[in-house]
Amino acid sequence: MNRRRGRSGSKPSLDEVSSDFLSNTNEEQSALISSSSSGKVSKTQVKNFDSANRNVNSKVVRSRKSRKEVVSDEAICINKESNSEALVALMAGFSSDSLKDEEIEARVVGVVGRMEQYNYILIWNHIITKWRENVSIWLTKDMFVDVIPERCSELLDSAYNYLLSYGYVNFGVALAIKDKIPTRPSKGRVIVIGAGLAGLAAARQLMLFGFEVIVLEGRKRAGGRVYTKKMEGENKVAAADLGGSILTGTLGNPLGLLARQLSYTLHTVRDQCPLYHADGKPVDEYLDKKVETAYNELLDKVSKVRQDKNYL
Ligand SMILES: Cc1cc2nc3c(=O)[nH]c(=O)nc-3n(C[C@H](O)[C@H](O)[C@H](O)COP(=O)(O)OP(=O)(O)OC[C@H]3O[C@@H](n4cnc5c(N)ncnc54)[C@H](O)[C@@H]3O)c2cc1C
Repeated sequence: MNRRRGRSGSKPSLDEVSSDFLSNTNEEQSALISSSSSGKVSKTQVKNFDSANRNVNSKVVRSRKSRKEVVSDEAICINKESNSEALVALMAGFSSDSLKDEEIEARVVGVVGRMEQYNYILIWNHIITKWRENVSIWLTKDMFVDVIPERCSELLDSAYNYLLSYGYVNFGVALAIKDKIPTRPSKGRVIVIGAGLAGLAAARQLMLFGFEVIVLEGRKRAGGRVYTKKMEGENKVAAADLGGSILTGTLGNPLGLLARQLSYTLHTVRDQCPLYHADGKPVDEYLDKKVETAYNELLDKVSKVRQDKNYL
């Protein structure tokens, strides 16, 4: 979910995607579980966010053009929460002041870099914040009609359709979302190879789009590299994760949202996290620390490269 992710030439325009969705009997679709995002907000991002807001606020244009033009050049005020809503978007891995390439490609605003874009992002932030307040509901556009000024109804359409079409809201496993899967798929049949997280998320998304989906899995179980092994013996039951188990960032990571939809309790990883060899003996503390230090240095370097390259 990186707002600066590269352009994809094969994607349909927003108009095409949205009209396709709206023609669906259930009128919508949902989300691919996007790739993980750390959910961390760097100081630079917050600073950029502040200055972006300052810049835009100071740019409220009151020109002597026609009334319609004047109105469209003004920043809207949805509520007093615009800063915190922008932070929600930031923490979810989105930039607070620029559009993703795919948004530009989908022509979500008429002119990029003007007040219209600012208003679009405000609306966008508001919608995604509202859904994240309660990820178990199916968010409809009507829910925003009262709070978004009528003159921005096209931007509301644009932001809502984009978020829906590209799967940033209304995704997951909540009942209200599952209920939107058409009982009679009408868009054709798709075969998904692999029942790991990516394949299962893609399958779910395609089903919401109205496709009939067949998932082919090479192993005898679903889950791919996520696998919880249950163990029993001596009247004791235990489980161990042999693959993925840690959610890095619960705000940006869509798995955090799925956990909320399923009412799963998340536990913080403790500072003390000793490692053990297969024979049950603890790993040498010195070696453990050395590896951890090397790993953290690697993360720091990767983070620096991301900042230098201006990736969020
Ligand atoms: C030991 C370990 C620990 C990890 N810990 C974490 C963690 O704590 N947090 C975290 O976020 N991530 C963690 N990960 C990474 C995370 O598990 C993976 O990123 C994620 O599960 C990948 O999902 P995927 O669907 O892309 O791929 P996979 O889970 O690899 O799924 C691909 C599926 O496709 C199937 N397949 C492949 N080829 C074919 C074929 N030709 N025909 C049919 N089926 C096929 C495979 O059998 C598999 O089921 C860990 C990974 C490992 C191995």
